Amino acid sequence: MLNFRNTTIGFLFLLALLVYLQLQQGWPWYGYFILVAVYTLLLFYGSFYIGSGFYMKVICNGNTGKKQVAISFDDGPIEKYTPEVLAILKERQVPATFFCIGYRAAEHEALLKQILADGHIVGSHSYYHDFWFDMHGPKRMIAELQQMQALVHHITGRQMKWFRPPYGVTNPSVRKAVEAMGYTAIGWNVRSLDTVIRDEARLLQKVKNGLKPGAVFLFHDTSHPTVHILPDFLEYVKAQGYEIVPLDKLINLHPYA
Ligand SMILES: [Zn+2]
Repeated sequence: MLNFRNTTIGFLFLLALLVYLQLQQGWPWYGYFILVAVYTLLLFYGSFYIGSGFYMKVICNGNTGKKQVAISFDDGPIEKYTPEVLAILKERQVPATFFCIGYRAAEHEALLKQILADGHIVGSHSYYHDFWFDMHGPKRMIAELQQMQALVHHITGRQMKWFRPPYGVTNPSVRKAVEAMGYTAIGWNVRSLDTVIRDEARLLQKVKNGLKPGAVFLFHDTSHPTVHILPDFLEYVKAQGYEIVPLDKLINLHPYA
């Protein structure tokens, strides 16, 4: 299986072989560059493709052949769009999971409470979600995740068990932090790219194309196009005979301690 451990063992083995061949058979120096380049590419692939399972186990979909899917929203809650998203979901009685950012939840306690009151799930998406999160060591990550945990517990009384890595990036530090917190890492297998795609028709088509049994959709309740296409998307899912179920039901895992 292609994971960090096996890849590193393979890299070290090939490196030793290359040293031997270079010294004994006069193999060219650029062999090292090729080997290091391939190894580096694999590390990047593992870091940026959340479904790879390269560094750690991440649950990215439900294991079902039934026409059931789940939807999730990252990066909120914010005043501008989260209430609209909640209203759309409530009107259609659709359950969702919100992976919230700590400092935003701290600013909008009422919204965090409303997410839960409406029957949705709340998961951790770090406290600051800063650009360099993945460069931090495990100690600093753990401190940040504890800060987020304490905040959500203080506001809602819930002890979260789910964590979605910021930017979907995983690495050895994220794995250590997730393990230390006793979390389960939750990914997705349909990325809407709603923070990038500004064309609403294109965005809607992209998520429609992703509809398949067990799918976990990633949206952002900070995205204007998402608020616009969400009703059409929900209608489409229904019209295709699919049911949107709570994520805990889809992956058969409890979201709180
Ligand atoms: Zn995020």
